[in-house]
Amino acid sequence: MARVFVITGPSGVGKGTLIRGLLARIPELELSVSATTREPRPGEVDGVDYHFLSEDEFDRKVKAGAFVEHAAYSGRRYGTLRSELERRTAAGIPVVLEIEVQGARQVRQSLPSAVQVFIVPPSEQALRERLVGRGTDAPEEIERRLEVAERELAAQGEFPHKVMNDRQEEAVGQLERLVRAELDGEAG
Ligand code: ADP
Ligand code: 5GP
Repeated sequence: MARVFVITGPSGVGKGTLIRGLLARIPELELSVSATTREPRPGEVDGVDYHFLSEDEFDRKVKAGAFVEHAAYSGRRYGTLRSELERRTAAGIPVVLEIEVQGARQVRQSLPSAVQVFIVPPSEQALRERLVGRGTDAPEEIERRLEVAERELAAQGEFPHKVMNDRQEEAVGQLERLVRAELDGEAG
């Protein structure tokens, strides 16, 4: 089966940024588009950034077993759709999941062959600055995300691979080497 890569770590650490860099360097990789009940941010497109669902739609999909994993995060729900993952792995396409820690734990149980990478911020102050600098979240939402981040950072020891996102180019390079090593290992 094609490889699955889980990229996790606190909000604002740079997961999305690093994944964009990674996909540019390894074009065969594809990102699974998650479902969420949160509101789209300005510029986000349904079906591209997320599948934006109502609470009812999300619930129905949970009951129908449509999710590989799903979790509540900061009062909203997020999940990986089985269809997003399986149509790629069935076609031999390696997939990246960008998910929070509770979801990563579920994938560890259900798909132990997935390669799990935790992205570490250089400091908690840097994490705060990135969340503020991104300009997408209200101050209360940033505080909520930083509270969750403390618990997430405490769980980093659970993850076999860690990449520190200090200098962006270096972090993308580390991710690229890790992913290529896994993909080459499979071919050989
Ligand atoms: P996440 O997907 O983990 O929530 P983002 O990729 O949205 O995080 O990054 C959060 C903010 O931090 C963005 O504004 C991004 O441009 C910035 N950022 C990402 N990586 C770095 C880095 N290495 N150094 C400084 N800023 C960064
Ligand atoms: P955001 O609201 O910033 O887009 O995402 C909030 C958090 O939810 C981030 O940590 C992000 O990685 C995570 N997330 C995004 N999609 C999924 C998903 O499908 N499952 C889980 N468990 N978390 C997700």
